[in-house]
Amino acid sequence: MEIKSAVFKKGSPSISGVFDDGLPHVAFIGRSNVGKSSTINALTKSKNLAKTSSAPGATKHINMFLINNKFYIVDLPGYGFVRGSVGKRDTLHNLIESYLSYPYDKEQKIVLILDAKVGPTKDDLDILSSLERLGKDIVVAINKVDRLKNSEIKSAQQKILSLVGPHKIVFYSAEKGESVKELWLKINS
Ligand code: GDP
Repeated sequence: MEIKSAVFKKGSPSISGVFDDGLPHVAFIGRSNVGKSSTINALTKSKNLAKTSSAPGATKHINMFLINNKFYIVDLPGYGFVRGSVGKRDTLHNLIESYLSYPYDKEQKIVLILDAKVGPTKDDLDILSSLERLGKDIVVAINKVDRLKNSEIKSAQQKILSLVGPHKIVFYSAEKGESVKELWLKINS
């Protein structure tokens, strides 16, 4: 995909305003630290559009980036590990849930990012089941393939595929730029 413009539009602590202007959404979801910001930056060829951070749990809002004046990249809060109280963690999970359960009748893709080295965690698989149940158009994006040794790649891929099941899947590396084009192709398919 040719990126002509990528602009941060808003960060919202609730879903209020998130669906207002009716443009298509490509929403990214994943555990904290899985490389969600790096993925958004790689896809938009920007260094710093989504802030990458090595501190887990840094993103607490739904952040929206307008791409080519045509659609939004939606950066959902990372799940799984949230610094702070249990209450804060629940608030974030509610925010993710209210985004996912909103009945958006426009085009909406959900990109679930997993870690190739760690494999799908219980949280990841729970989210995937929810997405399936909600009938979402899902892409499963397996990041950090560069962390696998050549000798590990095949068995790691097979294991992940068997856990994830039949979905649009792409293995890539946001950091190395490997298969990022393929990720766009899957998102657009
Ligand atoms: P987020 O919390 O999901 O937004 O994750 P970030 O994009 O901030 O990345 C978390 C950490 O993972 C950072 O230290 C990144 O440099 C690292 N990271 C992200 N993508 C990759 C990748 O493709 N390969 C490797 N090896 N590290 C990555």
